Amino acid sequence: MTQKKKAVFLDRDGVLNQSLGKRPPNNKHELTLLPWVPEAVAELNRAGFLVFVVTNQGGVGLGYMTPDDLAGIHDKLAEEVAKVGGHFTEMMACIHKPRSGCPCRKPKPGMLLDLAKRHNVDLAKSFMIGDRDMDVAAGKAAGTKTILIESDEKTTEVPDYICPDLLTASRLLKDSIEC
Ligand SMILES: [Mg+2]
Ligand SMILES: [Zn+2]
Repeated sequence: MTQKKKAVFLDRDGVLNQSLGKRPPNNKHELTLLPWVPEAVAELNRAGFLVFVVTNQGGVGLGYMTPDDLAGIHDKLAEEVAKVGGHFTEMMACIHKPRSGCPCRKPKPGMLLDLAKRHNVDLAKSFMIGDRDMDVAAGKAAGTKTILIESDEKTTEVPDYICPDLLTASRLLKDSIEC
C-alpha cells in the first residue's frame, strides 16, 4: 500500500485570479493572476502537498465561454505558476449549468471526492481554500479542513482558518499547521 497523499484544493476566481466584478474571466485575455499566486503554489508543492484547482465554470454550460476558452485560461495559469517551479496536479472545472443538479458543482463535494479517489489523497489531511461559502461547504462535505480567503463577499460558513490571501494561507500550512 502506498501512503495516501495530502492535498490542497484551490478555488480559482478570487483566489488565483481577480474576479471581474461578479463575473469570472471568459478567456485568457481577461485573466489577471494575483501576483503572489505562483510563489504560493510553489510553496505548497515544496511543503509536500498535491495542488488541485476545483472551480465552478457554469458559464461553459450557459454558452458564455467555450471549452477551448476555459482550457486557454487554465493553460495560462499553469504556465505562470510553472515559471517559479509550481505545479498543479490537475485543474478540474464543473462546466454544467448552475441549476443542472450535477454532483460536481460546489457546494457539492463531487470534484474533491473524484480527485481524491484518482490521486490517492487523504482528505482528512487536506485543505480546501476558497473565498465563498460554497468552497468552505464543499471542503467540509468532502472531509477536508477549510481556509477562507477574505473577500467583499458575505459568508456564513465557519472555516477552520481565515487568511487574507493565498500566500498567507500557504505559509500557514507550511509553517504552523501539523498535517
Ligand atoms: Mg471564488
Ligand atoms: Zn457539474
